[in-house]
Order: sequence, then structure tokens, then C-alpha cells
Amino acid sequence: MPETYSTDKSFALQLDATDPLKHFRERFHIPTQNNQELIYFCGNSLGLQPKSTRAYIEQELTDWQHLGVEGHLHGKNPWFYYHHFLTESAARLVGALPKEVVVMNALTVNLNLLMISFYRPTPKRYKVIMEYMAFPSDQYAVENQVKFHGYDPFDAIIELTPREGEATLRTEDIQAVIAQHQNEVALIMLGGVNYYTGQLFDMEAITRFAKQCSNDIVVGFDLAHATGNVRMQLHDWDVDFACWCSYKYLNSGPGGTSGVFIHEKHAQNQSLPRLSGWWGNDEKTRFKMQKGFIPQEGAAGWQMSNAQILPMAAHRASLAIFDEAGMEALVHKSKLLTGYLEFLLLNGKRKDFSIITPADPAQRGCQLSIVMQQNGKAVFDTLTQQGIIADWREPDVIRVAPVPLYNTFEEVWHFADRFHSA
Ligand SMILES: *Cc1c(COP(=O)(O)O)cnc(C)c1O
Repeated sequence: MPETYSTDKSFALQLDATDPLKHFRERFHIPTQNNQELIYFCGNSLGLQPKSTRAYIEQELTDWQHLGVEGHLHGKNPWFYYHHFLTESAARLVGALPKEVVVMNALTVNLNLLMISFYRPTPKRYKVIMEYMAFPSDQYAVENQVKFHGYDPFDAIIELTPREGEATLRTEDIQAVIAQHQNEVALIMLGGVNYYTGQLFDMEAITRFAKQCSNDIVVGFDLAHATGNVRMQLHDWDVDFACWCSYKYLNSGPGGTSGVFIHEKHAQNQSLPRLSGWWGNDEKTRFKMQKGFIPQEGAAGWQMSNAQILPMAAHRASLAIFDEAGMEALVHKSKLLTGYLEFLLLNGKRKDFSIITPADPAQRGCQLSIVMQQNGKAVFDTLTQQGIIADWREPDVIRVAPVPLYNTFEEVWHFADRFHSA
């Protein structure tokens, strides 16, 4: 990491020239407008398309075309086993054992499925701790799970709120809430990275603290904004379960499939309730069409429907790129890139804004959330007209996420230049 950044454009060009990951940009389709490449800082919302994706999907279309149903066993990548082709790469991304991970369904579906197994309220222990202003889908899912068990969401859901005058949560405050409710909390359900503020939670410290308070507290994370963005060790951290989507930092296409983590210690626990279907059944007897569900070992035993081959093919294309680049190198560049963006934002002529994302690089990933004091939407619209794709959140936040796979330091420089003059 450089000792200091510089506002000179030549500095950005020099960082790009020495960037060991610079060649990965060519692997992606960069959207254009009037034949100009757009500055795409929206990889936290929908990651760009790898050029290899089309061939991965076409392979499956070709097998379907020529083999029909025989593709299940005789395709180049037999569909019967397709999810296996994703497991190891997905497990690497979240720091899990392969048997702790499966790719299936979509994110909110999985969140609900996992809560069926891991939110087991009792009259004494039924509360859920989550972030205030969690992503709406997570709020709805938790609210209805609570109702499904006959509890009142206003009573059962404890929301973590920042201190007066602060925008993000302190780990010590999260721990204090856990301690205060330790005898009545059934589940802690947080985003690994908050979608709005970009804050990366200390998942390890939160999980450890919760388990110290009570072994009956289950800890789960929604990693939609964390996977492919920050490094994690879910297994070692003793996280109970997690799920994520593949279309944000993981570049696997709109509505893409989702990943699930279930800690090894739960894998063989047959007393956990789960919703089931034939794809979770032991593969040896899956096509025997017999009575009696025999779950596969580990997370794979939570599958229900047969694999969605086309979105999974897109996911496979992207995971191959992550395997090649490696999260360690990606995170190293990400810290430089986002640190540079922060530096340029704070060292320019515009002062009518603040950054609510933590300044500590250990507490964030790619994203910076900029709160505008006035005319935020007008500034955002001007940037859009100038070829910048970022994300506007009412009432006053511009979210920007330069991602290490395809964004450059020069783009960061141009963004800041336009931001300060918009
Ligand atoms: C993006 C996102 C979702 C979206 O859920 P889908 O089921 O994929 O539509 C849910 N939760 C969080 C925290 C997200 O960031």
C-alpha cells in the first residue's frame, strides 16, 4: 500500500500500470454509451458480465439441444451433478469446508429455508436481533418467520441502532445488546456487510460473543454484500449458517442463484427440521423413487429442487475467474482502490457531503456511501449524464463501489473529478 496517495492523475495511471490484476478487466463486458465506456461503480448491485459467461451457458444449451433428457447423465457437465461443480469454489470464497456449502435457489428463498431449520423459538427464547434498516427482503423474511411461529414482530425483533449522531454500529454496542437479551435471543441475523452504509461487521467477534453468552443463540449472516467482496472464515468463526446471492460482487447475472453455508456441526443433526425435496436426498437412491427421505451429508441435504442449470452455468463462469484471481489479491487491490476513492473525495473542492462508511479499512469492503447535504439527487443525475453508473438511495445517499476485478484507479480519479465539479 502506498504511504500516501496523490491527487495527480499520473498517480492513478501509475497504480493501474503496476496493478497485478489489471488484465482481468478485459475479461468483462464494460457497458458503453455513445461508444464510450461507462464508469461502472455498481458491482455491489449487479456485477458486470464476464465474456466467458456466454460459452458456459451455450455449452448447456448445446447439450440440451443434442441430448435432451440424456444431458442429465451424459452431458459434458452432467446436470445430475451440476451443483457439485460450484461447491468448492463457493466454499473457498466464504472460508468453509466444501460439505458446508451448496449452491441452490435464490437468496431470500434460502434465507427463509435456513430460518425454518435454525430459528427454533421457544416461549422463553424467541427473539431475533437484526440491524435497524436491514435490507427490506430480510426484514420481511424475519418478520414473517416470527409471525409464522405465533410471535409478535414488535416484541420479538430487536433492532440494532447506531448511537445518536453516528451512522454505523459499534461492535461493543452489538455485544451489549446481545448480553442484555442473552436469555431470550434465539437468533442473531445480520448482513455481513450492510447494504446501505457499507459497514463490514466483525462477524467473528459477534459470533464468539454470542456463543459465550449462550450456546442456544444461533448466529446467521446474509452475505449478499460480503461474498466476493471481503474475506471470511465462516467455518473457523463458528457461524451457524449463512446465505448470499451471486449477482452482486459475484457477477453471475440478474436473478442469479444463491449460495448457502451450514456449519459442519449441524450437518448430521437429523433432528433439525427442514423442508425437503428429491435433490437433497442421497444421490444413490434419488432416482429410485422410494419412500423415506435420506438427506445427503452436509449442506447439500438442504436442496429441494433439481439444479437450475442456466444460472448455475453463469455462476460457474464467474467462480472460475474468482479462483484465478484469488480473494487475497482482490481484497488487497480493493483496499487500495476504495482508499484512493476516499482520499480523492476528502481532498477536493466539494465539501457538502460526508462518508458514512467506516474509515477503517477493516470495517468495509469496496463500497463507500456518500451522504449529500443538499441537492444530492441533482449531483447524482449530473454524474449519470457524465457516464457514471452509481446508485442513488433516498433520501440523500450515493453508493459507489469500485470493484477490483474490473475497475481501475483511473476510473476512480475521473469519478472524483466529476463529483467535485458536478
Ligand atoms: C440483494 C439483497 C437481497 C436480494 O434478495 P433476492 O432474494 O436475491 O432478491 C436480499 N438481502 C440482502 C441483504 C441483499 O443485499
